[in-house]
Amino acid sequence: MGRLTESVVDGSQAKNPASLQDLPSIDRVLRWPGVAALVDEHGHTLVADEARAAIDGLRESARRGRLEAEALQPESVAQAIQARVAERLAPRLRAVINLTGTVIHTNLGRALLADAALQHLLAVMAGPNNLEYDLASGGRGDRDSVVEEQLCTLTGAEAATVVNNNAAAVLLTIAALARGREVIVSRGELVEIGGAFRMPDVMASAGATLVEVGTTNRTHPRDYEQAITERTGLLMKVHTSNYAVQGFTSSVDEHEIARIAHARGLPMATDLGSGALVDMSAWGLPHEPTPREKIAAGCDVVSFSGDKLLGGPQAGLIVGTREAIGRIRKFPMKRALRMSKLPLAALEATLMLYLRPERLTQDLPTLRLLTRPAEGIREQAEALLAPVQAAVAPRFTVSVLDLQGQIGSGSLPVERLPSAGLAIAPVEKKGSGRALDELATALRALPRPVIGRVADDRLLLDLRCLEDSAPFLNQLPALREALA
Ligand SMILES: *Cc1c(COP(=O)(O)O)cnc(C)c1O
Repeated sequence: MGRLTESVVDGSQAKNPASLQDLPSIDRVLRWPGVAALVDEHGHTLVADEARAAIDGLRESARRGRLEAEALQPESVAQAIQARVAERLAPRLRAVINLTGTVIHTNLGRALLADAALQHLLAVMAGPNNLEYDLASGGRGDRDSVVEEQLCTLTGAEAATVVNNNAAAVLLTIAALARGREVIVSRGELVEIGGAFRMPDVMASAGATLVEVGTTNRTHPRDYEQAITERTGLLMKVHTSNYAVQGFTSSVDEHEIARIAHARGLPMATDLGSGALVDMSAWGLPHEPTPREKIAAGCDVVSFSGDKLLGGPQAGLIVGTREAIGRIRKFPMKRALRMSKLPLAALEATLMLYLRPERLTQDLPTLRLLTRPAEGIREQAEALLAPVQAAVAPRFTVSVLDLQGQIGSGSLPVERLPSAGLAIAPVEKKGSGRALDELATALRALPRPVIGRVADDRLLLDLRCLEDSAPFLNQLPALREALA
């Protein structure tokens, strides 16, 4: 095969072209000192794979007449292989900086784990542990017992069990208590919480038949009473966590539904969604219903998430009567949904923090962020104004702005958190949309990606979740370079 450059007529033609025959063999490349050093460090398999891919790329360029001879220098090839190896070894799951203003952000990992939870993970995950081993008797134990006592203390329930997430908790509760039977739910509570989790579909997956009662805005006690038949297995209430029905409304509270259920010998379950373990109004936050209130109201089962307001790992917590929890625990599906030791350890340590409620706003990151005073956030924004302006000049102007943040994850959907941050606006009105896109992309491309939100032709950086400015400040030179 002769030189291929004559077949190429576009302007990107190489000035000092190399041909296919100039390409080195893999074996040769692997012996070059720079590449051999990579093999020493990472082993043959990964480096040979990436060397092959790098040479394939060079071959493709040569075919198109775009390969410069310099690109075949051993140092250049070694560098290309090193870059490929580094890229392969770079984790896809990465730490980011959440400046969206939404504290419990479902797409950004929801609740942040407390230090105590991270320490506990390190302490018990590196070796064997007593996950299902009873240290007192030396016999088999139950993983639920790691957290059951604490959950009962915190909610007033008789018994508790845990699964992977609250979606699993709801599915399991319905399946265990009402498979092949009817479940009565108000029309105003047939929620979709995103990610294809819709109450009617969950019922179907659990093998139960949904019986809707009432109307979208109003449901009355008699609606439940009249719907009960010999086929009924469960009465259920779903917390409308990501929307609010306002105006001419009426719903039946748990106490009343539980009374109606119990009068007919039926169980009553409630899906709380977020479920704060403590009364958030103690810190000036809007009140979110607590599992303790729902247990006190007579619910047989209350389920809620571990990684929403509770501030722990992904988990589905199910608390309730000994009888109902016993049925749930024995149901075969429980085995498929059971929690792994990693989140279980994190959950145990997180629940432990609730034994010292006075320290919660320091020890629990979710609560610490939610209770940051707006004035402090505004001062932080003022301190960041000049360095950020320097990084984005001359194409953008920056100002300090009062903002309205959100708790997030369907918690308290209509409430807003007074916050503050920076608004970055393009100087040129023409093409401002593209400029904003470019800025948002540059922020996301930083070593620790920064996620803001675009509104009214500006990029907003809400600083509520930026407790320490340093990781953000340290990246401003890189941002400046990216926008240059
Ligand atoms: C969030 C939520 C769920 C699902 O909980 P996950 O822990 O995300 O699985 C179920 N029901 C309600 C009402 C919710 O708000």
